[in-house]
Amino acid sequence: MSQDKTIRCLIIGSGPAGYTAAIYASRANLSPVLYQGLQPGGQLTTTTEVENFPGFPEGVTGPQLLEQMRQQAERFGTDIRSGEVTRIDFSKRPFEVEIDGSTELTAQAVIIATGARAKYLGLDDEKKYAGMGVSACATCDGFFYRKKRVAVVGGGDTACEEALYLAGIAEQVYLIVRKDHLRASKVMQERLFARENIEVLFEHNTVGLFGDNGVEGAHLVYKKGTPEEAKRDIAIDGFFLAIGHKPNTDFLAGQLELDEAGYIVTREGRPLTSVEGVFAAGDVADPRYRQAITSAGTGCRAALEVEKYLLEKGL
Ligand code: NDP
Repeated sequence: MSQDKTIRCLIIGSGPAGYTAAIYASRANLSPVLYQGLQPGGQLTTTTEVENFPGFPEGVTGPQLLEQMRQQAERFGTDIRSGEVTRIDFSKRPFEVEIDGSTELTAQAVIIATGARAKYLGLDDEKKYAGMGVSACATCDGFFYRKKRVAVVGGGDTACEEALYLAGIAEQVYLIVRKDHLRASKVMQERLFARENIEVLFEHNTVGLFGDNGVEGAHLVYKKGTPEEAKRDIAIDGFFLAIGHKPNTDFLAGQLELDEAGYIVTREGRPLTSVEGVFAAGDVADPRYRQAITSAGTGCRAALEVEKYLLEKGL
């Protein structure tokens, strides 16, 4: 392997976690190199208005927020590169990293901030109405549905949480569940059934969306594939996916401890992973909060850990 120069701090990912780590690492003179990945900016680039990131009283768009973070990281000297990490070997020191299947480099410490992506049903209409009524984040976009009608798809804790959140804003919330029961915890179910403006549609599948100017309704099928199968359309203004997320950790297979859903397992309430010198920040290690601000917070923590690690190891 060619080893022209070993990177002291390699940051993988260009969402709020990656850029915040880059700002801290560059200000600490760690000469970080950040690889942006296949979708520079990550999930925030697919949202419109971000109104819950402190410091922006009038709101800011996802792409604008990311652009400002990128500029801030660059201002302190972060080397931002396009490219995707395709393979990594944590058994060697310094760590060996492959970019885009060919370029190879080595790194003393690595921060993984590759994020997660929301799962979608796979309907063409989800793409057609992206940003026009289809969302995978009620906390981000719910506000736009004040006194309107929305549907949430899913039967887990996230779906219930999103439905409850939306019920406080929207006039009517439908929860579309493919089975005849919810997977969510009992306490969550009780809260859900106590809300008068939430209607749970058990054994319903969504087969399409319709509307001339954004989403105006969804085509559902009840008991699909059975003799009782029946079609039903509901009028809605917003369609929220809450069928789980997939962390972007495929490239780490066998290299780090992951949980059964593929999220990086961190230790001691810190961004430490199962390999010394490798740190995790943002949604890639967080199935629970998944907010830009919490990701930024863990990015900061990971950079501070790298600084401490390199100092202790004399690297
Ligand atoms: P889950 O995997 O728990 O639930 C996903 C839900 O989406 C299931 O009801 C599943 O249906 C449904 N689903 C999956 N694919 C499809 C599809 N193609 N069509 C229709 N429905 C589909 O994911 P969550 O994001 O809800 O939760 C992830 C983890 O985070 C869980 O462990 C959860 O407990 C935890 N969490 C905890 C919270 C809390 O305690 N406050 C809040 C949020 C999450 P089916 O049941 O039929 O498989």
